[in-house]
Formats: sequence, C-alpha cells, structure tokens
Amino acid sequence: MAYTALYRKLRPQTFAEVIGQEAIVQTLKNQVRSGRLSHAYLFTGTRGTGKTSTAKIFARAVNCLNPQDGEPCNQCENCRRDLEGRDLNIMEIDAASNNGVDNIRELREDVRYQPAGARYKIYIIDEVHMLSTGAFNALLKTLEEPPAHAMFILATTDPHKVPDTILSRCQRYDFRRIAGGDIQMVLQTYLNKEGIAFEEKALRFIAKTADGALRDAHSILDRCLAFYLGEELTLEKVLRLLGAVDSGVYEKITAHLLKKEITALLTETDEMLMQGRDLQQLVLGEISYLRDLLIVKTMPQPGKLLDLAEENLLALRAAAELCTEDFLMYIIKSLSQLEADMRYESNKRILLELEWIKLCRPEVDQSEANILRRLTEVENRLAEGPVHSAEPARRPAEKGGEPVKAQPTLPPIETAAFPEDIKAVIAAWPGLHFALNPFVDIALEKAMPFYAEAGGGTLLIVIDSSAGADYIEKSEYKERIAEFLAEKFQKNFNLQIISVQEYENRHKRGAQELKNAVADLRRNIDFEIEMR
Ligand SMILES: [Zn+2]
Repeated sequence: MAYTALYRKLRPQTFAEVIGQEAIVQTLKNQVRSGRLSHAYLFTGTRGTGKTSTAKIFARAVNCLNPQDGEPCNQCENCRRDLEGRDLNIMEIDAASNNGVDNIRELREDVRYQPAGARYKIYIIDEVHMLSTGAFNALLKTLEEPPAHAMFILATTDPHKVPDTILSRCQRYDFRRIAGGDIQMVLQTYLNKEGIAFEEKALRFIAKTADGALRDAHSILDRCLAFYLGEELTLEKVLRLLGAVDSGVYEKITAHLLKKEITALLTETDEMLMQGRDLQQLVLGEISYLRDLLIVKTMPQPGKLLDLAEENLLALRAAAELCTEDFLMYIIKSLSQLEADMRYESNKRILLELEWIKLCRPEVDQSEANILRRLTEVENRLAEGPVHSAEPARRPAEKGGEPVKAQPTLPPIETAAFPEDIKAVIAAWPGLHFALNPFVDIALEKAMPFYAEAGGGTLLIVIDSSAGADYIEKSEYKERIAEFLAEKFQKNFNLQIISVQEYENRHKRGAQELKNAVADLRRNIDFEIEMR
C-alpha cells in the first residue's frame, strides 16, 4: 500500500473534525444551512491551521445533495465524487505554481460553464498571494461580476500581499493558531488508536515546536514514527531526531543565570555534551531566546515580531517579567561575543564554562559593560529606597490643597480561622520544591499562599507578577501545582493563581499586610509545634 502522509490521513472530512476553529466553522455551517452564501471567501492564517481543509469541507457542503445540519453528508453522489478526486465542480488551484495571467484566463473561461449536477462551481485558490499582478487583475474582473453559480475560496498565509480591491470583495475569515493542548490531544488520540506507546512530554514538546500549526505537528510525528518504528515515542527520541535542544533548556539556563547558579550551569553544559549536542548551537539558541524575552519586555504588542502561539507568548511574558532589561542586554552581548569567539576555538567547552562563571560572578568581569551594569544596579537599588519599611510611607497633606483623606482602616487579617489544611500549606510553602519549570518555580518560590472564602474555600497563590500569574492560571501548570499539593497534603485544593495587584484590588489591602499575615501565621504554627 502506498504510504500516506499523516496530515493527509488525518485530514478532517467534516466540520466537526476541524480542530480549534470553532467560530469559523459555526458561521460557515450556518451559511450552508440558510443557503445565504457569498461568491468570494478569503481564509487567512499561518500555515497548518486548517484553511485548505476547511475550504474543501465547505465546498463539499455547499454542493452536497443531502447536507446534515450544515455538514456535508460525504455519502451522496456529489460528495463521493469530490472525495474520490474526480469532481469537476470543485477545483483546487495552487497559486504558487499557477500564478500567471494565463492560468487565471483559463479559470475565467471555465467559470462560464454551468456546474454539472450541483449548485455551484467552486474554485479553491491556495496561496493566493502568489498570483502575479496581471493574474490578480484578471481574477478581479471575475470577482466584480461573478456568474450566479460561481464561488471562490481564496486561502493565504499572507493577506497583506493581496490587493485591497480583491480583499474588499471577500468575506474574510482569520484562522487562529491552534492551542498546544488541542494539538497534543489530536496526536494522543491518534497514537492511542494505533496502539503506539508514548511519553506525554514527547507529545507536549512536538505540540510546542509546531507552534500552532497542526500540520507541522503531524509531520514531526510522522518522521518520529517512521524512524523509531514500533518503539515507544519518548522525548529523548524526538529531540535526537530533530537535532533539537528542548526549549525548556533555555528557560533553565536563563533561570540559572538569573540566580547565578554556576554549578547548575556547568552540569547543564555537561549534559548537553553527553547528549552529543552542539554547544555553539546551544549558545545561539540561548541568544535567540533572550532576544525574544527582550522584545516581549520592551514592546507592548510583540505579536508581529515574534509570531508565536498565544500560550508560548504568555510563557515568555511570565519569564520576561522576572528579568531586567539590563540583565538581558548584558547577557545577550556577552554571549554574542562568546559565539563569535567559539568559531575559532576548538575547545568550545572551556570557553563556555568560563563564560558561565564570568556571568555568574560579575566581580570577575572587568569589562566596561559589566562595570556600567553593576553601577546601574546600585543606582536602581538606591532609587528604590529601603525595601522593607515596616510602616508604609504616608503622603503628607499638601499645603493649601484638600487634606488627604485617611484610608478607612480595616481590621487585621484574621488567619486563625483559616482551615487547617490551608494553614499547613502556608506553613510548608517555603520548603516545597515544585520542579515544574524554571520560571514557574521562581515565581512560586516568591509567591504567597493565602486563603479566600469565595467558592467554598480557595487556596490563593498570590504571585508578584501579573504576567506570571496570568500564565500559570491559564497553563497546564495550574493543574500540575494542584496535583503536587494533592500528593503532598492528601487533599484536593481549589486553586486560584492571582497577582499581587489583583489581590490588592480585590481585597483593598496592601501586599505588605498580606506578607505580615503570612509571617504571623507561620510563626504561630511554629510555636504550636514547639509547644507539642
Ligand atoms: Zn453529500
């Protein structure tokens, strides 16, 4: 039997099978049901998000003799003809290889003939932005006065390259990148069906690498399955095949640099070498990761420059909030220099190890850039003033102005009434090692666990970074924290991860009050334990 690529084999045949584009699918189904169709559609979005698959299903549904609630039946004469690839009413044109005026002239000739045994003649033009100017003009003429039986579905990854005159005549649908969790689920369903064993983290890595493009995920999986035929699919194998360094490594390295952990960095380097990875690639990868962090940190809307799936962006933002711009720029500069030096050095390992030491012990580095950076650090610290003042500074009443209204004083937070298991978590928190992800771990280390009565009792995890709180709340890590705590405390907690700002807004209390309450509670518990 001929080999069929996975993405073809798993190509959706009905709207219900299209992943991650619920809103678009719903609208198209409604149009089929109501019969209110347009003559021209534009499907845009990054590659592998389901544009062409959706176009094919939609075309089939439009011409189906017996549509089921907007879905093609895939049984009738018309559907079968299309599925078997002998349908003259639905035509697929790849504009990348048919981009000339002549191709479109042929199409215009063809469009004049009535469809055979169906309502519409449908032209799916893939990669439409590749058409030449002449071809666009020819297409425009048809779009201006389309025959009643003609329908065009234009698909493109690059709508900016499509002339406005064309755009304005199309109903436009923007296909979203598909969420990593959805991609993982698709791969998992397939492997389960085929009875192939796998590590969940292998699938998570593939989904992350695919970055919202289901087709990329399919082709990575395809390569892995072909290469390791009949074996369990592990993360290690996926990494080896792709020659990739798990991007988690860059998160780890950055976190180690942030915490100045020399030993951990040297160990990481050693592991990379043992796995046969190229150290220069590692440095390049780290530079590009830091560059992403810097962009996220300095630009309010980095979407265009980074072009990442939403959850990858959230993760970056959470990490970026833990780093200062100075830190990022300094490390990027140092590593770029290192990378240049590495090209002419046979012992790359020593160079890299020296660099890690230098970066973790700034007193070793006598360069001007480093001295400047350390000066800035000192200045920043001075500017912030004493960090832990017991009394919040009061703003003096301005002369001549209205007197400053006194804040209504709330009674101190009553922690004694917290449920015992919540108290136990709060007390044990500083000693917990989650080991989930380097940045998540740093955020959790600094976090304050607390209690809220809402929702029948909730364990609040208050985090000193809104991007961090947002990321953990929305990502898989929330569930993994819950699992970790359930295992440790034999109890399922209702979790909520919020930022300090949100806590302050919600409870009209300052973070310092919260800190004091947590400290008090821990002291009391220590005291109780001593008494026993
Ligand atoms: Zn049908």
